Amino acid sequence: MNKRITIAIDGYSSTGKSTIAKQLASKLGYIYVDSGAMYRAMTLFSMQKGYITNSQFNISDLIDNLDTASLKFIYNESLGFAEMYLNDVNVEKLIRSLEVSNLVSKVSAIPEVRRKLVAIQKEIGKNKAVVMDGRDIGSVVFTDAELKIFMTSSAETRAQRRFDELIQKGEKVSYKDVYTNVVERDRVDTTRKDSPLIKAEGAIEIDNSELTKEKQFEIILKLVEEKLRDI
Ligand code: C5P
Repeated sequence: MNKRITIAIDGYSSTGKSTIAKQLASKLGYIYVDSGAMYRAMTLFSMQKGYITNSQFNISDLIDNLDTASLKFIYNESLGFAEMYLNDVNVEKLIRSLEVSNLVSKVSAIPEVRRKLVAIQKEIGKNKAVVMDGRDIGSVVFTDAELKIFMTSSAETRAQRRFDELIQKGEKVSYKDVYTNVVERDRVDTTRKDSPLIKAEGAIEIDNSELTKEKQFEIILKLVEEKLRDI
């Protein structure tokens, strides 16, 4: 399979977008890009600089200093995917914390932040052969993507998945806090003015509440193969 298409995977938080995107990229020999990692890295940057805390957000300081945040993906051979670097430091672990999750939707609602990250995303995907997951990939970043997937599942299923993941990584979190974060993030992401999370035109919706990872991969791979056959 050497045809190059763009695959956009959007959806609510913790719907397993990155799992399926990684599987597809590895199967097709495509690049995988976790756009959420970029918004998380910008949030970590804002926290480290003191622009945002749980009680305040100095938006103009963040905007004035956007150029001092350099984001890079560096491929990790042993993991099989690219990790997020902020100003040349690997932040892959730090950006997955609940503290970052609790602030990321505020940072990602800022148009100047989105403009910076969307430009990088477009550049990475300009030669196609890319699977990118996020919230606005099919609706804003790659409106011409050949395949657009919109992932959903119940809030309880998603919170449980994220809770298990965080516990496994050794984070001390409660299910209730994770559930609240998942629901609140979806609320902010779907109601923001700039690039809200929506099902893009032409996107195929997959509700994976009742699907195993294997079944989900089988269904989506079939969609990809159909697309590759048609073009
Ligand atoms: O995908 P993940 O859950 O890691 O994304 C973290 C947050 O980053 C989302 O809740 C959303 O606020 C923001 N995001 C976004 N647009 C994207 C990807 C993520 O606004 N394309």
